[in-house]
Amino acid sequence: MNKNVLRNLSYGVYVVSTKCDNRPTGCIANSVMQVTHDTIALSINHDNYTNKCIKEHKKFAISILGVDVNDNIIPIFGFQSGRDVDKFKGIETSTIEGIEVLKDSTGYIICELQNQMETETHTIFLGKIIDCEVCKEEIPMTYRYYHQVKKGTSPKAAPTFIENTPAKTENSIRYKCTICGYIYEGDISKEPDDYVCPVCKKPKSVFAKI
Ligand code: FE
Repeated sequence: MNKNVLRNLSYGVYVVSTKCDNRPTGCIANSVMQVTHDTIALSINHDNYTNKCIKEHKKFAISILGVDVNDNIIPIFGFQSGRDVDKFKGIETSTIEGIEVLKDSTGYIICELQNQMETETHTIFLGKIIDCEVCKEEIPMTYRYYHQVKKGTSPKAAPTFIENTPAKTENSIRYKCTICGYIYEGDISKEPDDYVCPVCKKPKSVFAKI
């Protein structure tokens, strides 16, 4: 069995958002697809806080990320838990049907939870589209683009996670957290020794020049 063939399936990169205890929360997903004219299927790992929150709130939004999305949106939403932090702090959003969607996206889809199914690791949610809009004329990011061009990494909870080592790029003024992908602009050696990645809280030593 060669799981590399699974990379030939097409995926986008999305921020899935919902609400929990009266505050917004969300995570990165790539397993999102339109399965009928008005139905979206979405898979979220059981360990993700967003999973529990969608089950409770029964409504979710998909913000479709574009190729020029801010580099730190994916680390912020993909590599920390909404249990611990408000991921939406400092993020520009619009509130649609009571859910926060990202302004920095090509558009959004709002769904009402219709059904769900459990697998060993993930819940597959089916949502009926109740609203959707184009926000920006920008090329939507594919999962392949994220890995090959953006040199992105995936958290182990991602359904399409495959162990790999991101390739290096030529750029000498930025550092990248090798754990979560957070981009540090400038010379990180000027930070104090106890500097930690603002997203995954790992030490300065995990940053690599890109
Ligand atoms: Fe990090």
